[in-house]
Amino acid sequence: MSDKSSLLSAQSSTAPQFRFAPSPNGWLHLGHAFSALTIAARARAAQGRILLRIEDVDIGRTRPEYIEGIYQDLEWIGLNWEGPVRRQSTCFPSYEAALQQLRAMDLLYPCFATRKEIIDTITQGGVPLDRWPRDPDGGLIYPGIYKDITQAQRSNLLWEGRTFAWRLDMPKAKVVAEKINGGPIIFQESGPQNIGAQKTNDHITCPINPERFGDVILARKDVPTSYHIAVVVDDADQGVTDVVRGQDLFPATDIHRLLQVLLGLPAPRYHHHRLIRDETGRRLAKSARDQGIRELRQQGLSPDNIRDMIGL
Ligand code: GLU
Repeated sequence: MSDKSSLLSAQSSTAPQFRFAPSPNGWLHLGHAFSALTIAARARAAQGRILLRIEDVDIGRTRPEYIEGIYQDLEWIGLNWEGPVRRQSTCFPSYEAALQQLRAMDLLYPCFATRKEIIDTITQGGVPLDRWPRDPDGGLIYPGIYKDITQAQRSNLLWEGRTFAWRLDMPKAKVVAEKINGGPIIFQESGPQNIGAQKTNDHITCPINPERFGDVILARKDVPTSYHIAVVVDDADQGVTDVVRGQDLFPATDIHRLLQVLLGLPAPRYHHHRLIRDETGRRLAKSARDQGIRELRQQGLSPDNIRDMIGL
């Protein structure tokens, strides 16, 4: 599917569909409130629907009380979602099917490297760790160990029962995706981004550069998918046309668009909003209890007070 047709297919569906997709590994805080209310405002302006998705693929970090807390906090703050809530933990077969599709395209390989092995490979190669290239999230770019081993070596490691993760062969994936797409892959961004891209009406057109993440992990043994796979499969399955989320996920959109093209999924429009920071300028963490919506509610604050606190 070409970029043009996939962008059009997302836009021509009846009502625009937005989604809020929190991870239930902590209580919601002011940053989530900002996200939820930005989604609500944009959906209202576009006469769209809002869907809710609980991103609980990381089952080990999920707690039922956090999920209950999400429902309570969102209702209190005024986010009205429609339709059934999607729980990622019930969708593993869909994620596996997507991974299988990428495996069949020969774009995934099992990587047996531990973190220590990665660090040792880098430092033994004579490059100090602080000089090694990092991805936009600060992770070390994968140095390629186990990428070019023979099939026999790979079979032996699998037979030994070594733990592995599935990595995307990024250079190859980019070539294949551009071929499918019939040219460079782009996405539409309407958030307050400041990148040298072409501005048309209310959005900019962003070319993707997923290579800056290196060979990303798309599934692990303990979590048999990744955020990247789950988010593109879910957005497509839920018919999401408009992804509104924090600026911290702006770089990851390059991976998401790449996967959408490889998997033949439509392209949503994107809006990455500013992040709410604490008084020291740091992004709010799940542990920032004093900024938790629950705590603020229990202290007697109203939803309007919350809006004031986050400048909405
Ligand atoms: N689950 C992610 C979070 O809570 C958001 C993912 C997304 O919106 O794509 O930060």
